[in-house]
Amino acid sequence: MAELTPIIQLGNPILRQKAAWVESIHDESVQKLIDDLIATVAQANGVGIAAPQVANSCRLFIVASRPNPRYPNAPEMEPTAMINPRIVDHSTEVVKGWEGCLSVPGIRGLVPRYQAIEVEYTDRQGKLQRQELTDFVARIFQHEYDHLDGIVFVDRLENTLDMITEQEYQNQVVNNT
Ligand code: ZN
Repeated sequence: MAELTPIIQLGNPILRQKAAWVESIHDESVQKLIDDLIATVAQANGVGIAAPQVANSCRLFIVASRPNPRYPNAPEMEPTAMINPRIVDHSTEVVKGWEGCLSVPGIRGLVPRYQAIEVEYTDRQGKLQRQELTDFVARIFQHEYDHLDGIVFVDRLENTLDMITEQEYQNQVVNNT
Protein backbone atom coordinates (compact mmCIF):
# COMPACT_ATOMS: atom_id res chain seq x y z
CA MET A 1 0.00 0.00 0.00
CA ALA A 2 1.28 3.42 -0.93
CA GLU A 3 1.52 5.87 1.93
CA LEU A 4 1.62 9.65 1.90
CA THR A 5 5.04 10.81 3.04
CA PRO A 6 5.83 14.17 4.70
CA ILE A 7 7.63 16.59 2.38
CA ILE A 8 10.64 18.37 3.90
CA GLN A 9 11.09 22.07 3.29
CA LEU A 10 13.82 24.53 2.36
CA GLY A 11 16.25 24.80 5.27
CA ASN A 12 16.35 21.05 5.87
CA PRO A 13 19.98 20.08 5.12
CA ILE A 14 18.91 16.90 3.29
CA LEU A 15 17.67 19.10 0.43
CA ARG A 16 21.25 20.37 0.01
CA GLN A 17 22.96 16.97 -0.17
CA LYS A 18 24.13 15.19 -3.29
CA ALA A 19 21.89 12.11 -3.45
CA ALA A 20 23.29 8.58 -3.68
CA TRP A 21 23.09 6.26 -6.69
CA VAL A 22 20.26 3.68 -6.49
CA GLU A 23 21.89 0.23 -6.58
CA SER A 24 19.05 -2.25 -6.34
CA ILE A 25 15.95 -1.09 -8.18
CA HIS A 26 14.05 -4.33 -7.53
CA ASP A 27 14.35 -3.98 -3.74
CA GLU A 28 10.99 -3.77 -2.03
CA SER A 29 12.11 -0.57 -0.28
CA VAL A 30 12.82 1.18 -3.62
CA GLN A 31 9.56 -0.01 -5.19
CA LYS A 32 7.63 1.16 -2.13
CA LEU A 33 9.41 4.52 -2.19
CA ILE A 34 8.25 4.94 -5.83
CA ASP A 35 4.63 4.12 -4.92
CA ASP A 36 4.74 6.49 -1.93
CA LEU A 37 6.20 9.32 -4.05
CA ILE A 38 3.53 8.87 -6.75
CA ALA A 39 0.77 9.02 -4.10
CA THR A 40 2.38 11.99 -2.34
CA VAL A 41 2.88 14.10 -5.48
CA ALA A 42 -0.72 13.50 -6.59
CA GLN A 43 -2.13 14.47 -3.22
CA ALA A 44 0.00 17.66 -3.12
CA ASN A 45 -1.04 18.78 -6.65
CA GLY A 46 2.57 18.54 -7.77
CA VAL A 47 3.86 17.62 -11.23
CA GLY A 48 7.06 16.06 -9.97
CA ILE A 49 8.78 15.02 -6.75
CA ALA A 50 12.28 13.85 -5.97
CA ALA A 51 13.21 11.29 -3.29
CA PRO A 52 15.32 13.83 -1.29
CA GLN A 53 12.10 15.83 -0.77
CA VAL A 54 10.81 13.00 1.43
CA ALA A 55 14.17 12.84 3.23
CA ASN A 56 15.41 9.87 1.22
CA SER A 57 18.62 11.06 -0.40
CA CYS A 58 18.78 8.78 -3.44
CA ARG A 59 18.82 9.46 -7.19
CA LEU A 60 15.20 8.85 -8.06
CA PHE A 61 12.31 11.11 -8.96
CA ILE A 62 8.78 11.05 -10.34
CA VAL A 63 7.67 13.11 -13.32
CA ALA A 64 3.88 13.28 -13.22
CA SER A 65 2.66 16.14 -15.36
CA ARG A 66 -1.11 16.67 -15.34
CA PRO A 67 -3.38 19.70 -15.15
CA ASN A 68 -4.12 20.55 -11.50
CA PRO A 69 -4.92 23.68 -9.48
CA ARG A 70 -1.20 24.50 -9.08
CA TYR A 71 -0.42 23.95 -12.81
CA PRO A 72 -3.67 24.30 -14.80
CA ASN A 73 -1.95 24.12 -18.21
CA ALA A 74 0.30 21.12 -17.58
CA PRO A 75 0.19 18.31 -20.19
CA GLU A 76 -1.21 14.94 -19.09
CA MET A 77 1.09 11.92 -18.70
CA GLU A 78 1.39 8.70 -16.68
CA PRO A 79 3.44 9.25 -13.50
CA THR A 80 6.91 7.96 -14.39
CA ALA A 81 9.68 6.94 -12.00
CA MET A 82 13.13 7.94 -13.28
CA ILE A 83 16.03 6.28 -11.49
CA ASN A 84 19.70 7.31 -11.74
CA PRO A 85 18.78 9.86 -14.43
CA ARG A 86 21.26 11.72 -16.66
CA ILE A 87 21.00 14.58 -19.14
CA VAL A 88 22.96 13.38 -22.16
CA ASP A 89 22.29 16.32 -24.47
CA HIS A 90 20.38 19.60 -24.49
CA SER A 91 19.21 22.37 -26.79
CA THR A 92 21.10 25.62 -26.98
CA GLU A 93 17.75 27.37 -26.52
CA VAL A 94 16.95 28.31 -22.95
CA VAL A 95 13.45 29.42 -21.96
CA LYS A 96 12.20 31.06 -18.80
CA GLY A 97 9.06 29.63 -17.20
CA TRP A 98 7.27 29.66 -13.88
CA GLU A 99 8.15 27.03 -11.31
CA GLY A 100 7.17 26.25 -7.79
CA CYS A 101 8.34 23.53 -5.46
CA LEU A 102 6.56 21.44 -2.83
CA SER A 103 9.59 22.06 -0.59
CA VAL A 104 9.39 25.87 -1.07
CA PRO A 105 5.70 26.57 -0.38
CA GLY A 106 4.22 29.95 -1.23
CA ILE A 107 6.90 31.01 -3.73
CA ARG A 108 7.04 30.98 -7.53
CA GLY A 109 9.95 31.90 -9.73
CA LEU A 110 10.74 32.44 -13.40
CA VAL A 111 13.49 29.91 -14.02
CA PRO A 112 15.65 29.56 -17.15
CA ARG A 113 15.84 25.94 -18.40
CA TYR A 114 16.87 24.16 -21.61
CA GLN A 115 13.89 23.99 -23.98
CA ALA A 116 14.73 20.39 -24.97
CA ILE A 117 16.85 17.69 -23.38
CA GLU A 118 17.82 14.15 -24.19
CA VAL A 119 17.79 12.02 -21.06
CA GLU A 120 18.64 8.55 -19.89
CA TYR A 121 17.24 6.87 -16.82
CA THR A 122 16.40 3.43 -15.51
CA ASP A 123 12.68 2.74 -15.14
CA ARG A 124 11.09 0.92 -12.19
CA GLN A 125 11.33 -2.39 -14.08
CA GLY A 126 15.11 -1.90 -14.32
CA LYS A 127 15.14 -1.08 -18.02
CA LEU A 128 17.36 1.70 -19.38
CA GLN A 129 15.28 4.35 -21.16
CA ARG A 130 16.43 7.13 -23.48
CA GLN A 131 13.99 9.93 -24.32
CA GLU A 132 13.80 13.42 -25.69
CA LEU A 133 11.77 15.75 -23.50
CA THR A 134 10.63 19.23 -24.46
CA ASP A 135 9.02 22.30 -22.94
CA PHE A 136 7.13 21.79 -19.65
CA VAL A 137 8.08 18.14 -19.18
CA ALA A 138 11.76 19.00 -19.88
CA ARG A 139 11.39 21.73 -17.25
CA ILE A 140 10.02 19.27 -14.67
CA PHE A 141 12.91 16.88 -15.36
CA GLN A 142 15.53 19.62 -14.92
CA HIS A 143 13.87 20.84 -11.71
CA GLU A 144 13.75 17.33 -10.20
CA TYR A 145 17.25 16.50 -11.44
CA ASP A 146 18.55 19.54 -9.57
CA HIS A 147 17.08 18.13 -6.33
CA LEU A 148 19.41 15.12 -6.68
CA ASP A 149 22.38 17.50 -6.62
CA GLY A 150 21.14 19.61 -3.70
CA ILE A 151 19.98 22.49 -5.93
CA VAL A 152 16.62 24.26 -5.43
CA PHE A 153 14.88 26.34 -8.13
CA VAL A 154 15.44 29.62 -6.29
CA ASP A 155 19.20 29.05 -6.82
CA ARG A 156 18.57 29.31 -10.58
CA LEU A 157 16.78 32.68 -10.57
CA GLU A 158 18.62 35.33 -12.55
CA ASN A 159 17.18 38.07 -10.40
CA THR A 160 15.17 38.21 -7.19
CA LEU A 161 12.63 40.27 -9.19
CA ASP A 162 11.74 36.97 -10.89
CA MET A 163 10.33 35.67 -7.59
CA ILE A 164 6.70 36.24 -6.55
CA THR A 165 4.32 34.77 -4.00
CA GLU A 166 1.88 31.98 -4.81
CA GLN A 167 -1.04 34.36 -4.26
CA GLU A 168 0.33 36.89 -6.77
CA TYR A 169 1.11 34.04 -9.17
CA GLN A 170 -2.51 32.91 -9.02
CA ASN A 171 -3.71 36.51 -9.56
CA GLN A 172 -1.27 37.57 -12.28
CA VAL A 173 -0.37 34.42 -14.18
CA VAL A 174 -3.04 31.74 -13.81
CA ASN A 175 -5.99 34.10 -14.11
CA ASN A 176 -4.50 35.68 -17.24
CA THR A 177 -3.83 32.51 -19.19
ZN1 ZN B 1 11.12 20.93 -6.19
